[in-house]
Amino acid sequence: MRHNFGAGPCILPQEVFKQASQAVLDFKDGLSILEISHRTPEFEGVVEEAGKLVKELLNVPAGYSVLFLQGGASLQFAMVPMNLLPEGQTASYLETGVWANKAIKEVANFGTANIVASSKSSNYTFVPKEYSIPEDSAYFHCTSNNTIYGTEMFSLPETKVPVVCDMSSDIMSRVIDVAQYDLIYAGAQKNIGPAGLTVVIVKDEILGKSGRKIPSMLDYKVHAEGGSMYNTPPVFSIYVAMLNLRWLKSKGGVAEIEKENIAKAKALYTEIDRNPLFKGTCAVEDRSRMNVCFVMENPELEKPFLKFAEENGIEGIKGHRSVGGFRASMYNALPITSVHTLIELMQIFAEKHQ
Ligand code: PLP
Repeated sequence: MRHNFGAGPCILPQEVFKQASQAVLDFKDGLSILEISHRTPEFEGVVEEAGKLVKELLNVPAGYSVLFLQGGASLQFAMVPMNLLPEGQTASYLETGVWANKAIKEVANFGTANIVASSKSSNYTFVPKEYSIPEDSAYFHCTSNNTIYGTEMFSLPETKVPVVCDMSSDIMSRVIDVAQYDLIYAGAQKNIGPAGLTVVIVKDEILGKSGRKIPSMLDYKVHAEGGSMYNTPPVFSIYVAMLNLRWLKSKGGVAEIEKENIAKAKALYTEIDRNPLFKGTCAVEDRSRMNVCFVMENPELEKPFLKFAEENGIEGIKGHRSVGGFRASMYNALPITSVHTLIELMQIFAEKHQ
């Protein structure tokens, strides 16, 4: 059996992949999900159910729209300032990794980014907590989970400024209070569905205030008014997302999966801290539940451990090139039994190399 600790894309349960494959062959009356018109009641039902599931699973309050867009989270880096930052104004950003940094770069096309705090000088090993957000910021932008470095933001700063969050790699993994945010966006590929699909949850009242002309495809308002069907939507990606959200609901929803995610993270971090061969790379209080980054006390053992793990069914734990070592990504679909297998291998390896 393979245990997929890869960072994506796109880690979903086997049963979802099976149902999705079946729909490629026969979604309705022998027609593929890929060929039925997106204007049929059947497909409109898919978009509607996917949107309802997002709202239900995250307990989205009234006054918010759920949008299914394309272009990945990276397009959101530009769409956010294009839609929310009036000419000449400043938006505040918390710089907690390369993705946040890329979001910051896009702001220059529309206005000014004010970096309220950064952990860049420590290679993003922690999430800064001491900073203030100027009250005249058009919005405050943060990244809830820093996929590459393995840090996660478990609380938001107090602010009256609208909050925008890139939740690409921890959305649907833990309970959040959507009312604290004005706009949430996520590339779908970790806990929602196939890469390329982007989910946006936006408070309707913040839209239409930039004073700028926005191309239709980049205008949240256009997509909200068109029910995510302004143009031909990514039908298959939305369908797979719907199946996966159904799976999450059947597991008991976000609160239940959060318990499992806590248990998985606790088990692996406990082993990293206990096993003399390994050490974590991030500040303990900011340790991500989704991406666990660690190295070995003796870097010369890293290659042999990687080989040993791979030979025993572990997939995708090589760390990102900017951190090195290992990154065990533990999205919703990864069973806790896979984490136990990895822990066991770490223990066997330690016995052989002490
Ligand atoms: N933001 C975060 C936190 C990510 O992890 C990623 C990709 O993994 C992105 C943004 C970029 O997403 P995309 O490749 O969908 O544009």
